Amino acid sequence: MDFNSENKEINKELKCTGCGAILQFKPGTKSLTCTYCGAENVIEASTEVIEEIDFEKFISTQYEKEEKIEVVTVRCSACGASLTMLPNVTADHCPYCASSIVVQTGSTSKVLKPKSLVPFVIDKKKAAEFFRNWINKLWFAPSDLKQKAASGNLDGIYVPYWTYDTRTQTAYTGARGTYYYETETYTTTENGQQVTRTRQVRHTRWSSTAGLVANDFDDILVIASKSLPVNYTQRLEPWRLSELVPYNDKFLSGFRTESYQVELVEGLKIAKDLMTPVIRSTICSDIGGDEQRIYTMNTSYSDITFKHILLPLWISSYKYGDKVYRFLVNGQTGEVQGERPYSALKITLAILVTIAIIIILIALFSK
Ligand SMILES: [Zn+2]
Ligand SMILES: [Zn+2]
Repeated sequence: MDFNSENKEINKELKCTGCGAILQFKPGTKSLTCTYCGAENVIEASTEVIEEIDFEKFISTQYEKEEKIEVVTVRCSACGASLTMLPNVTADHCPYCASSIVVQTGSTSKVLKPKSLVPFVIDKKKAAEFFRNWINKLWFAPSDLKQKAASGNLDGIYVPYWTYDTRTQTAYTGARGTYYYETETYTTTENGQQVTRTRQVRHTRWSSTAGLVANDFDDILVIASKSLPVNYTQRLEPWRLSELVPYNDKFLSGFRTESYQVELVEGLKIAKDLMTPVIRSTICSDIGGDEQRIYTMNTSYSDITFKHILLPLWISSYKYGDKVYRFLVNGQTGEVQGERPYSALKITLAILVTIAIIIILIALFSK
């Protein structure tokens, strides 16, 4: 899908000069390639700098002026996932489930254009190979899973993300717990005799404390798609964001591109939730002692900046039984994460084998 539908010049540049076919971006390169005649076309390097945008300023004055693109959001009737596409583009299947039916009525909205992206490094063949290896290593997977999974589609999707930077200052109140030991006397029975013994017992002394800690956050990643399972996408991290390049339609040719469904302001809230455990751990080391308790924390955020980026993902969904399972491959690093079925039969067999081994061992040792 091509974001820049009005721009006919770009579309012309995407046509192969040899045969007129649409050129596609070739993962792992900086080139467009023709899948029919093999012609290659290097994407000119951009000198544009990828900048962090001031969040407050953008929200208050810049947002209205910013270039927007119109997208249609359609909902897959089979799995409920939202797909975004240009008004004149239709999807022949839903990449988020094994279904080929996509409802064509959708709502139109205007969204911000991404500013930078990480181009695909892993191509489709490689992604399929990573998936096969992943399936092969699964424990307790049904035996026919491989064939079933192989029949699924593999879609290359540029997924929208927000990244946030900020400095935080957190005022907290809490308590420091310090261990101390006391010698206690107790009575016990030894060889039928009542005897008195002593032992060291640990106690914690709590003293209240308060303080101020500072944290610096760089590129907190928030996925802006609502169609992918967040727990799996988080496990696809880390991404090498140093490889971001300025946005260019040519990198998208041959791939699907989703636009964000999580708004910029909503994304910041999610980013703040991701920062909280880090701030809590800074507070704990500030409190010191052997144990820490945090009663209140009040965080102020300054110098908030953001980037609107696209990251490459291969996604496949496969039906097993009547359930849909999805797996994802990081299109930059090859990291695989996914949902998987378990074989009830294999698990039962494993339990039975374990029980049998235990019975044999007990029989051997009791001889
Ligand atoms: Zn060609
Ligand atoms: Zn679907």
